[in-house]
Amino acid sequence: MKAAVLHGPRDLRVDRTPAPTPGPGEAVIRVGMAGLCGTDYSIFAGTRPVHYPKVLGHEFVGVVEAVGAGASRVRPGERVVVEPNYSCGACPLCREGNRNLCLGRVAVGIDVDGCFAEAARVPERCCWPAPAGVEDEDLVITEPLAVVVRAVRRAGVSAGERAAVVGAGTLGLLALQVLRARGAHVLVVSRSSRRFALARELGADATHALTDGPPEPAARAFSGREGVDVVVETAGTAEAVSHALALVRPGGRIVLTGLPHEPTPVAFFSVVRREVTITGSMIYQDEFEEAMRLVASGAVRTRALVTHRFGLDAIGAAFEAHRAPDAIKVAVLTA
Ligand SMILES: [Zn+2]
Ligand SMILES: [Zn+2]
Repeated sequence: MKAAVLHGPRDLRVDRTPAPTPGPGEAVIRVGMAGLCGTDYSIFAGTRPVHYPKVLGHEFVGVVEAVGAGASRVRPGERVVVEPNYSCGACPLCREGNRNLCLGRVAVGIDVDGCFAEAARVPERCCWPAPAGVEDEDLVITEPLAVVVRAVRRAGVSAGERAAVVGAGTLGLLALQVLRARGAHVLVVSRSSRRFALARELGADATHALTDGPPEPAARAFSGREGVDVVVETAGTAEAVSHALALVRPGGRIVLTGLPHEPTPVAFFSVVRREVTITGSMIYQDEFEEAMRLVASGAVRTRALVTHRFGLDAIGAAFEAHRAPDAIKVAVLTA
């Protein structure tokens, strides 16, 4: 089969590789459409090292081609969305339901080969039957959507609350829509105003560009009080954490989804003095079905975020496009 194999930093080649065969409890998925994200880019660029050679890619929809012995959850010919993380299932964290925190967690496209290929092999328990009538293009970003479904759940948002989303990339524009679906009013805060027309179209009640000034006055004007009730941070930068603290009211909550790898200075005076609750949210536990339901019901519009499409042979151009200012989600079509 054809696979985009990363042989080292920025050394990505479309190679002929042996087609995967499913082991016990596994499924081989013929990849239909895959999404490219910042994690893929940082591995491609070498800032996040992996064991080479590696096939990247972890956001995908496809059709089950074959299943191994004992697999009964999905059948060949079935269209599925893949949950690209699986845990050991046996440790105390897994047994208490915290499988996203398992120290033995395996990430598809990072620890093992992923979906920038004609086919990928995953444990069948990672496969979620795709809702009928919902196209690949709408389901391809189910994985990042599951991330924000969990973040909004951990924020404990209730209808009528005032929320702010920091960041207007894929995660930010999805978080905005999940918050709206929960009945919150949403202020989108971003470095620039580039995505604000789209954010408004997707339901943002207000927007604030950091180039236009600090976030505090915007949060006060939007909330009609000391700041917003809840902030969902999606940018994953050190500054974004301070922006979240600037937006939230005393007694409010912040959920962090981004993973800044550099040490992040936090004004803990502001956290303690104002009793702000800061919560981390790591990928997803049981949020995949809910994410697919939100797409199927139309409550979350994902297709609007897919700005670029490339064939597998043009994977290099897909990675370049990810950095383009007008790119939100770059998709790779392998079928
Ligand atoms: Zn990703
Ligand atoms: Zn475990």
